[in-house]
Amino acid sequence: MPQIPLLDLRRGFSEIEEEVLKGFKEVFQSMKILNGPNLQAFEKEWAEYLGVKHAIGYSCGTSALLASLLALGIGKGDEVLLQANGFIADFEAVYFSGAEPVFLEVDPKTFGPDLNDLRKKITPRTKALLLIHMYGHPCEMDDILEICDKYGIILIEDASHAHGAEYRSKKVGTFGKVGCFSCGPVKNLNAVGDAGVVVTNDDELAFKLKYFRVHGQVEKNHSHFPGLNTRLDELQAVILRARLKTLDQKNEKRREIARYYTEKLSEIPGLLLPPLDPPHKKSVYHRYVIGTSKREELIKFLKERGIGTGYYYPIPLHQHRAYFETFGKSWNLPQAERLARELVAIPIYPELTQDEIDYIVDSIKAFFNA
Ligand SMILES: *Cc1c(COP(=O)(O)O)cnc(C)c1O
Repeated sequence: MPQIPLLDLRRGFSEIEEEVLKGFKEVFQSMKILNGPNLQAFEKEWAEYLGVKHAIGYSCGTSALLASLLALGIGKGDEVLLQANGFIADFEAVYFSGAEPVFLEVDPKTFGPDLNDLRKKITPRTKALLLIHMYGHPCEMDDILEICDKYGIILIEDASHAHGAEYRSKKVGTFGKVGCFSCGPVKNLNAVGDAGVVVTNDDELAFKLKYFRVHGQVEKNHSHFPGLNTRLDELQAVILRARLKTLDQKNEKRREIARYYTEKLSEIPGLLLPPLDPPHKKSVYHRYVIGTSKREELIKFLKERGIGTGYYYPIPLHQHRAYFETFGKSWNLPQAERLARELVAIPIYPELTQDEIDYIVDSIKAFFNA
């Protein structure tokens, strides 16, 4: 029986192994471990790739998000809108900023925020929208930019699922005041440890973000504003530079697999499938999620056939125990809750073989035919 884990990081590494080991060797010879040439080069290359002025490496996506909110002056008394289907790191950034989270219903056609719900939840205290391009699908940026513009809402993008995704030929993460990316091991652009990066066209914000990650020390040993230690190290930068060279090619492979899955699985009645791209969007399928009320049975069936699956995410943001007492009550978010109950991710990495892809499709069909 084939064994197809949800993600297999061993595959694909051999392609960059030589380059990475050479890069590591140079780092160890120079021992420039922090703020070295690879960090600076990665920041330049990532900014160029996205078509944005500044990229600033961060220790992880979570710290990138928190730093962004703080650098924008978001805090006590402010409300921040965010999709209830996001990752917990998005909520944490709002929580630790001191602002109040306002959870948004989800549009199951895009996995982005439901725009009617979004419009209804704007108040005079709404300071920012934290927008998440879930699973690599670009949100409806024309509408979102119009709303943000009309009400003076700061747009912060979390593009941690969406490295290289495009909306009207512009890369996601570059629409907002600031764009945050996790480059952790499981992401489309992935280090071999924690890593992240923020991007912006705003010089002043870039300055703050550059120094927030080193304790706000614009001068050595002198903090000009509050900060933390949240740097991206040189070894992870070596890997990210190597990976970036094939990001587009790998994303294209993911898109091919996604199209194939959708074509084959659309024969199954009642199965929720991710959207196929309209002409103005380019998704990068960080995850391929399908939705069914028989999720647990499907997961068990696939496991018995050697196929790994995953939950993204099984508990909507407003229902986590840690925050429930303070923020979790009285939300009416039936779509977000349904998606949390029904969605399951199936393997979609660029290194899957056609035989494996067919085996996955046949197994899912077999489950629903039984
Ligand atoms: C992974 C992820 C994060 C957090 O990034 P880390 O690098 O793990 O801290 C934030 N948002 C989303 C959508 C993510 O998938």
